[in-house]
Amino acid sequence: MAINLELPEKLNSTVERARMAAEHIFRPITRKYDKAEHEYPVELDELGKLAKKARSGDKDADGGTASDEGTVNGANLRSVLNARELSWGDVGLMLSIPHQGLGNAAIAAVANDEQLERFADVWAAMAITEPSFGSDSAAVSTTAVRDGDDYVINGEKIFVTAGSRADHVVVWATLDKSVGRAAIKSFVVPMKTDGVTVARLEHKLGIKSSDTAVVRFEDVRVPADNLLGTPEIEVKKGFGGVMQTFDNTRPVVAAMAVGLGRAALEELRRMLEEAGHEVDYDRPVAAQHAAVAEYIRLESDWEASWMLTLRAAWMADNKEPNSAEASMSKAKAGRTVTDLTNKAVEIGSAAAYSETELLEKWARDSKILDIFEGTQQIQQLIIARRVLGKSSADLK
Ligand SMILES: Cc1cc2nc3c(=O)[nH]c(=O)nc-3n(C[C@H](O)[C@H](O)[C@H](O)COP(=O)(O)OP(=O)(O)OC[C@H]3O[C@@H](n4cnc5c(N)ncnc54)[C@H](O)[C@@H]3O)c2cc1C
Repeated sequence: MAINLELPEKLNSTVERARMAAEHIFRPITRKYDKAEHEYPVELDELGKLAKKARSGDKDADGGTASDEGTVNGANLRSVLNARELSWGDVGLMLSIPHQGLGNAAIAAVANDEQLERFADVWAAMAITEPSFGSDSAAVSTTAVRDGDDYVINGEKIFVTAGSRADHVVVWATLDKSVGRAAIKSFVVPMKTDGVTVARLEHKLGIKSSDTAVVRFEDVRVPADNLLGTPEIEVKKGFGGVMQTFDNTRPVVAAMAVGLGRAALEELRRMLEEAGHEVDYDRPVAAQHAAVAEYIRLESDWEASWMLTLRAAWMADNKEPNSAEASMSKAKAGRTVTDLTNKAVEIGSAAAYSETELLEKWARDSKILDIFEGTQQIQQLIIARRVLGKSSADLK
């Protein structure tokens, strides 16, 4: 069967809009907010409004009407295209656009129809990580205790992207620690609720324009129907419910890596050509300048990352189980973008290391794409489990 890689026409406007924003809004302010860590990029306000409007305007298309061939190109494909284009402009700013938080992706993945409607206009951050764990998300110790029509949440979350800017946060908490992973549920919490406090903002290596917060929850009361998915503790199903979030968000992070990777490749190619080294796809790699050969290797890794990302997003849109493919896309793209941006600095040398260009910034920004939403090692672990048919108890 032939693979048709042409974009569905209905998604062209998404790509066009994101590309314009990346070029005309992000790039002119990219260095400004790299220097002004923790300062809110006010330039994003208008973009947030447009994103919100576009989202409601696009609702029909996002529903994913099947094409003549019976395939669906819906919200997941749209999200990866949007992330790819915007991240070409600036990853940190992309993560700061109002109404496009990681928590929004979690709501889209797990919420029921009523919740989708109720939370359609929120800007939601995502709070899983705690002081006592990062990778081992089954170790959640934040608690949610049922009290009448409410749940009462207590705990501390760290490294919450957009935690000080979003108006809502999706919090992972356990209903009963003794039951293990099946009791972990996610809750939508308005940041203005009594007992929610932003305790601190982190200083970071890269994506400095994105705020990363410590958020505390002390006797935070939310309506019981803010629990996403089912309140039943289904021991057999285990972690299935909340983990579904990652099947949607990991391809988006992979797409961010592809977008940033494209920016670095373009800049590297410009530098090579300025130095008189043309990239010639008609000649054997071995017969070209060593730096050009390296460029072609990086570019092919980058292409492979995008293919894997498209596959994972397409599977999600078509309701095919995609955990392994989502991890493959994130593992490949995360590794490629860190390799690619660092190689670009190496080949560009002093000019690329200097703040006069953006390559040094991209080398710093790229690393997070191989850490959050599951590190490189965790993605490989998940892939190994799926390929070998092992459980998380068998392969740790
Ligand atoms: C800028 C930034 C933004 C973030 N945003 C969010 C957010 O919005 N929401 C949120 O909840 N979290 C967020 N995080 C947290 C992020 O998801 C965690 O940092 C990540 O999951 C890794 O956890 P950790 O840092 O505790 O490392 P650890 O889990 O302690 O891992 C340390 C090292 O050990 C490796 N390792 C761990 N377990 C295994 C294993 N079983 N086998 C092999 N190797 C292993 C890891 O790959 C890593 O290299 C963010 C982090 C950063 C830095």
